[in-house]
Amino acid sequence: MFTEPDGSESIGYKEEKIKTIKEAEGGKRTIGTNDVEKGKWQARLVKCWVKFPHSFVRLDDINLLLKREKLVNCIAGYYKNEIIFATSDFITLFLQLNQNVNEIFKPFLDHGFHIEIEETLADLGILNSILDRKTLKARKSNDQDRLKVLNTRGTKIYKRYLLPEIPDKLNPPICDICQQNMGVEQIKGTVREWICEKCQEVRDIGEPFREYGTVWEEEGVKVCWFKFSLDQSKVETWLQNAFGEYIDNYNFKHADILKEEFRPLALQIDFNNDYKEMLKDFWNKFKEYQDIKKPIVNYDELGVFKYSPELIKIVIENYINLFEQYFPDCASDEKTPIGLSLNITNIKYPIREHWRFFEKDKKNFLNIRYHKIFEEKYSKDELKDIIVMAINKEVTSTFLHNLVQLEEKLKSNIRIFIEVFENKRKYPEICELVSRGINPSKILSLYRVFRERQEYEQYEVIRSKT
Ligand SMILES: [Zn+2]
Repeated sequence: MFTEPDGSESIGYKEEKIKTIKEAEGGKRTIGTNDVEKGKWQARLVKCWVKFPHSFVRLDDINLLLKREKLVNCIAGYYKNEIIFATSDFITLFLQLNQNVNEIFKPFLDHGFHIEIEETLADLGILNSILDRKTLKARKSNDQDRLKVLNTRGTKIYKRYLLPEIPDKLNPPICDICQQNMGVEQIKGTVREWICEKCQEVRDIGEPFREYGTVWEEEGVKVCWFKFSLDQSKVETWLQNAFGEYIDNYNFKHADILKEEFRPLALQIDFNNDYKEMLKDFWNKFKEYQDIKKPIVNYDELGVFKYSPELIKIVIENYINLFEQYFPDCASDEKTPIGLSLNITNIKYPIREHWRFFEKDKKNFLNIRYHKIFEEKYSKDELKDIIVMAINKEVTSTFLHNLVQLEEKLKSNIRIFIEVFENKRKYPEICELVSRGINPSKILSLYRVFRERQEYEQYEVIRSKT
């Protein structure tokens, strides 16, 4: 606070003194000639994605996720005033011009994490979480009216990466896990590894899920690892589109101005909180189940279970129900912000490969991979239709079983199409699904994971009788 020579009070931020909020923030708009004056105060909105190059060599290495969680909580506590919201892999910060992101993320960088940053610097009057999109869109379409306002107000968008400091010359051996530091030789039985100090520290946090490598492995079970994911860019897009549709439906006056001034951040925070609640609810359902586990206790996005058709069906149906309960109007196709990925494999399959599958982009509502058998993506509607019209119908079971056999033998999608249409009268639901544009392979793949064992058991019974 300053007292001016005339006795009035003003607030100072760096060298800039202001008397009114308007003077500080500047106009509220980014186009036209009204309400577009330059403000005296600028700030930055910084979106940060926490990434890592680590490859999980052993199960213990997924402790890195625990480490990430701890670091997020740590900086969320330390930078309370700057953090708008944070998830396990995404942080939005509101920063003054002179605050250094490298300093804020130093603990992450020290542990080999990479930070991908999208930063918007603008007048306070227009700074919001979608100004970056607005600006990029204006640049792309060469919208001179808007660009003129943005430029005269000193708006800037940056994209950058923060990487750990790596010495100019890195002498081999290099760490098997992070590949960013020198590794120290470790010998366990016949296995030789090179692990750096930092990665060893993470490994030493403890075995996250002891039974996995002992009891489960001895049983030689098939396992299904799964991971939920939330795509923040898709959340922004969906909120913006949903708001636009809402405005259009009501024929508001000045619809364009309303759309223009939409600030989705508060809604995005709500969305994130609902997502966390949904995951808690998801796990509540499995409290009594022995065969499904959360490998990292406080990290709700990741799970693993002993694969069985019954259990995978419960997992998927639980997800559908909760999604509909928490996000009744949300996009649930390739535009969905939330996805569930499942990977069914032999228990010996390397953890890093499961993770690699989970990190793939272009996710849909449900993404399933059955190692060496299939990989499919489903929207929620497709999934529900297939479950109701094909999987849950006893009458179609033998037909689907035969189609699976045929597909495995001939490896021909066209033959399956023909078979489906030739049996149109007998199995109209299957034909109906295919006519709606659902590829038969999607029906058969889901049938495999939901019904397979039951079918085999039936065959066992038939064989034992003959
Ligand atoms: Zn390392």
